[in-house]
Amino acid sequence: MQVPSFRRALLRWYKASKRDLPWRESNDFYRVWLSEIMLQQTRVEAAIPYYRRFLARFPSIQELAAAPEADVLAAWSGLGYYSRARNLRRAAQRVASEGLPATYEQVRGLPGAGPYTAAAIASIALGLPHAAIDGNVTRVVSRLTNDASEMAAPAARRRIADAAQALLDMRQPGEFNQAMMELGATVCLPRTPGCARCPVEKFCAARSAGTEKELPVKVKKQKSRDARMDLVLLADEEQVFLIRRSSAERRLADFWELPDRRCFPGARCRKLHEFRHQIVNDRFRVAVWVARAATAPPGGRWFSRAELTGIPLTTVTRKALDAAVSLARIPSGARR
Ligand code: SF4
Repeated sequence: MQVPSFRRALLRWYKASKRDLPWRESNDFYRVWLSEIMLQQTRVEAAIPYYRRFLARFPSIQELAAAPEADVLAAWSGLGYYSRARNLRRAAQRVASEGLPATYEQVRGLPGAGPYTAAAIASIALGLPHAAIDGNVTRVVSRLTNDASEMAAPAARRRIADAAQALLDMRQPGEFNQAMMELGATVCLPRTPGCARCPVEKFCAARSAGTEKELPVKVKKQKSRDARMDLVLLADEEQVFLIRRSSAERRLADFWELPDRRCFPGARCRKLHEFRHQIVNDRFRVAVWVARAATAPPGGRWFSRAELTGIPLTTVTRKALDAAVSLARIPSGARR
């Protein structure tokens, strides 16, 4: 492959076609870092409003470092994978006391920054020459090099990493990494690669061999399991009753949620609505019930509607409350 021509073609396309995303407005370390952490497990479209709100709430690393954890989790509520928010705050505290990192290794040492995230931040915010290799880039490189190995194998991962590093434009590594990711996200799609509109089609070995749709080779994902959740909405016109998750639970410690129906043995319940919710490999059918309970169960407290925006809520609770509000069905029948 003519690597310099490949780089030129890719970067020219990226400059002309890149999506207008809020974190691309500057290469400021905090903004790049925040966006990369948010995008670890969240789609671009879903992350945008959270990114804007989070920056408005914590405009600088110092403000994030000084914030109570509950406030940071509240701003993150609904995005899921809350260890990201806890790590972000811990990392902000380290940066606030020790200063901004200057090397890839220092970025990698921050809580929550794995190899991909560290390479993306180091290249985009610090201009350091590290190829950032996520799922999109792995797919693009496996096709460019027509690599038919199973991608989870360590040898294949090393080969992809070496190939990505060899392609990287050392003079503008941040732009180049973003261009590779953008190509994977918008053109070189998993099932339907858009080869006819691809800026690097003539450099692509899989396209020449006609194997682009077969790559990358992956082991079959574990199948999702079906499960159900029955939550109870205990509310009046002004307040909602929520239970606190135990502080012994690492992932969701101190989050608030709607109580489970099992907390109301013998109570008469009426189904309000139902929706689907996926947590890793569990596919839940979530039913929200209105209980006619004389007393609220132990372990919780009543929150006013205004308070709900300032506390960490589990994603499924936020979904259930949003749906209840949009149905105008936070009922008056289940009073304290
Ligand atoms: Fe992907 Fe097709 Fe472009 Fe190759 S030619 S990089 S398979 S979109």
